[in-house]
Amino acid sequence: MVNPPVKSVLYWCSECNIPLLGRTCGCGREGRRIALNRPYDVRPALKTDMDLMRDLLARRFGCREIPTVILLNKTGGLDRNDQVIANGERFGWLTFDPSSKEYSFDPSFEALPFLVPRITKGIVDITDALQRDPSLSGRRIGGKRVRVKSTLPDGTVVVRAGSLWGVGQQRDGHVRIKQIGKVTPCTYPESDWDLAVVKNTQALKNLERNAVRFIRQHTRDKPCVNVSYSGGKDSTAALELARRAGVETAYFIDTGMEFPETLEFVGGMDIPIRLHGRDFWEKAKEAGPPAKDNRWCCEHLKLQPVKDWLSGTGECVTVQGNRWYESFVRAGIPAVSKNPFNPGQVNISPIRNWRALEVFLYMWWRKLPYNPLYDLGFERVGCWMCPAMLESEFRRVKELHPDLHKKWMKFLREWFTDRADDRYLTCGLWRWEALPPKMRELSAERKIRIPKGR
Ligand code: SF4
Ligand SMILES: [Zn+2]
Repeated sequence: MVNPPVKSVLYWCSECNIPLLGRTCGCGREGRRIALNRPYDVRPALKTDMDLMRDLLARRFGCREIPTVILLNKTGGLDRNDQVIANGERFGWLTFDPSSKEYSFDPSFEALPFLVPRITKGIVDITDALQRDPSLSGRRIGGKRVRVKSTLPDGTVVVRAGSLWGVGQQRDGHVRIKQIGKVTPCTYPESDWDLAVVKNTQALKNLERNAVRFIRQHTRDKPCVNVSYSGGKDSTAALELARRAGVETAYFIDTGMEFPETLEFVGGMDIPIRLHGRDFWEKAKEAGPPAKDNRWCCEHLKLQPVKDWLSGTGECVTVQGNRWYESFVRAGIPAVSKNPFNPGQVNISPIRNWRALEVFLYMWWRKLPYNPLYDLGFERVGCWMCPAMLESEFRRVKELHPDLHKKWMKFLREWFTDRADDRYLTCGLWRWEALPPKMRELSAERKIRIPKGR
């Protein structure tokens, strides 16, 4: 597979304190460069994400304030593991443990100029410990383990050593210092997402112009053209672009497993065609739950209804919102591709090179409504029992729709009977048919019995 030209760095205007879509801000300044971790699909932290980080920082560090413009970058890990970017710095990590169901926020050293003036607890003073231990004094102590007397619960701490500040992990009476050094408290320019939209308007105009031109090129004189609309953010952007390019027909497939929020939201989007997936439960009783590595549901719930609808139509062009940054599988999507399941359907992807940041800024610029699930803490929108969801998102399903969550857990328990212990289900391990190494390690470490052959 040819690697697409993804952007692995982000530019940030220090003067406006906002992320940039290009290198230069609308204020005329060059952005500062921030190297990102894979998959570089930065997205704005929305309401539930912000509340969560505010709560974690308040509980652990007594910090009542967080930056107003924060980006998240979903990286790999056991479950949710978001790189957090704020104030033009790699600010920390937001992590969810699928076993304990606890979130944690680990600030980076780069977050300390913001945090030091604001934190009131969660601080371990290692000045005396360093003086007592001659092996530590006068040497680099980043990476070292220091014995401490601390009444704090184990976890991330801010460390202080004389005039130096740092971050570390406390465990069993010791702190492992991650990084320590001189920190100059800093005030940052006030900013918000409206400002980010304004200062990125030129880049948004260019993105729109290119995407609309691309759609027109590939749909001109075609007898059958439509938009595949899922109710998610990417297809909301694609729908807007397609409408601007003159495409009127759009279809939504109700899989029968949609979130109530999605159904309500799509109901207000004026989508003329509604298709229906085949019965999920009937098939699941034979095939078992779909898995990340066995998504029988895609064909059953989504591909087949479209194939039935388009049968006999001849070649049809479908505008869709797939993006390179979404997943490894989608990283290879070409601009134009034949649907392998339905060769008469040619898919075109006008936003394939957009990150989630571009998508949100575009929706905000064009004042498009978006699915409320994003503000409720979901990073992606699909079926409510989708195996591609994170366990942290299933937790949100449980909080928002306890009846649906209960129904799914009942189905899983009946399917797996006594072949697995309950934590196999409650930790979300059922989402793989063949467990990946990191989940295998988790189950071994926490003594979770997994069913034979999985
Ligand atoms: S959203 Fe998830 S559960 Fe629904 S069809 Fe797609 S992969 Fe399957
Ligand atoms: Zn600027």
